[in-house]
Amino acid sequence: MAKQPLIIVVDDDPQVLRAVSRDLKKQYRKEYRIISTDSANEALDSLLDLKKKGDEVALFLSDQRMPEMPGVDYLEKAAEIFPGARRVLLTAYSDTDAAIKAINEVQLDYYLMKPWDPPEEKLYPVITDQLEEWKANNSATVGGLRLLGYQYSPKSHSVKDFLSGNLFPYKWLDVENDPAAAETMMLHGIDHKTLPAVIFEDGEVILGDDLSPIAKKLGLQPTAQSEMYDVAIIGAGPAGLAAGVYGGSEGLNTALIEKRAPGGQAGTSSRIENYLGFPNGLSGADLSRRAISQATRFGIDFLVPQAVDSIEFNSGYKCLTMADGTHLHTHAVIITTGVSYRMLESTGLQDFTGAGVYYGAATTEATSCKNKDVFVVGGGNSAGQGAVYLSNYAKHVHILLRRDNLHDTMSSYLIDQIDSIDNITVEPFREVVKATGDDRLQK
Ligand SMILES: Cc1cc2nc3c(=O)[nH]c(=O)nc-3n(C[C@H](O)[C@H](O)[C@H](O)COP(=O)(O)OP(=O)(O)OC[C@H]3O[C@@H](n4cnc5c(N)ncnc54)[C@H](O)[C@@H]3O)c2cc1C
Repeated sequence: MAKQPLIIVVDDDPQVLRAVSRDLKKQYRKEYRIISTDSANEALDSLLDLKKKGDEVALFLSDQRMPEMPGVDYLEKAAEIFPGARRVLLTAYSDTDAAIKAINEVQLDYYLMKPWDPPEEKLYPVITDQLEEWKANNSATVGGLRLLGYQYSPKSHSVKDFLSGNLFPYKWLDVENDPAAAETMMLHGIDHKTLPAVIFEDGEVILGDDLSPIAKKLGLQPTAQSEMYDVAIIGAGPAGLAAGVYGGSEGLNTALIEKRAPGGQAGTSSRIENYLGFPNGLSGADLSRRAISQATRFGIDFLVPQAVDSIEFNSGYKCLTMADGTHLHTHAVIITTGVSYRMLESTGLQDFTGAGVYYGAATTEATSCKNKDVFVVGGGNSAGQGAVYLSNYAKHVHILLRRDNLHDTMSSYLIDQIDSIDNITVEPFREVVKATGDDRLQK
């Protein structure tokens, strides 16, 4: 049986520790093992052992005021050992300033105020959100879907991008580096030439990078369910998702059509800090998950993966033709197709897209950057967010800029974060002119 991921709680007050552990066990014990201690040092000492034993920590919950060290310092140290774990601080009203500061300085995920009664209102919604977020990002430890492939394969990257964009946690097995991959391939009789391969929980295997059968098996719905819609929204980025929520909530028969995954550009963001109502920031995946569940709760049809190829105007309605040749009829159309990435045009780069060169893939490829040097090209906000996120995994992150500094192109909160992270270097006056390699980017 797979090991249960851990929730580790630290509070020097035994009464608070008992109460919070009891509440957490009541709600989460089926899926998680809850460990509690009154000593931050003891918790830190045990983390390396847990790591060696193959345990995974999903969430750290810590008091702020503790005699051995402040909770923020403890969480920062704990994150060095389990960088993917969510970090939540338990604070008294008087510690709010420290908590807000910590959001920026140590990328705290949330701060919870004491007391948390009733837990159904004040504790569980926050912790459940954080655990959902951990599950979505932490594909390596969650059972269920497995994806086998080559790290430097555009086909594998495309399936990874599809699964993570559509918020399906999966375990990635790199056939060149993971001994478990060879074993799994043998067990399922998978040939190297047919990779990538998705293995589902029921044992079914889908080979190759055709996303339609994978989407179908996962229960996604790419085709229209109604003869006629009141409104069809093309593109499920933040604009399309918002339109979907309002269409659905007004009782309109609404179709939201998305060619890749909900969230659009925002869905690929590692951390959005300026979205109204989320003072701690939230990841793009979190935003997408919340928005798509809000829209579907109002009964809209979400068609994904599905691209609209053309729109024809007939008397009284519009007919949309989809990439797979199917049609959808609607009275009104809202186009929210946003923008797509401008690709780097330097010599050779296009040959390595998905094989060492990635666009907006910080969250999808972060774990494969472990102990490597990563070069982020550009100095905008998405580059800054990507660099901060990747610095938790990579040996070193280099931000390459054509201009001399970040101030004209990046928000100051991100510049401050970058300045405080040792393994990020900003390299001005750099331009990528050429890329070379064999089957993958090398230089
Ligand atoms: C990495 C990153 C980080 C960012 N961080 C921030 C941030 O912190 N704060 C901030 O304010 N902004 C941020 N942005 C910018 C923000 O994400 C965008 O402004 C926002 O996503 C635009 O929303 P949109 O719905 O208009 O378009 P998009 O997000 O571009 O979405 C358009 C959607 O339409 C789909 N689509 C396109 N054509 C078709 C078609 N023919 N058929 C079906 N679907 C189609 C696309 O697949 C896409 O999902 C970030 C952007 C990136 C890339």
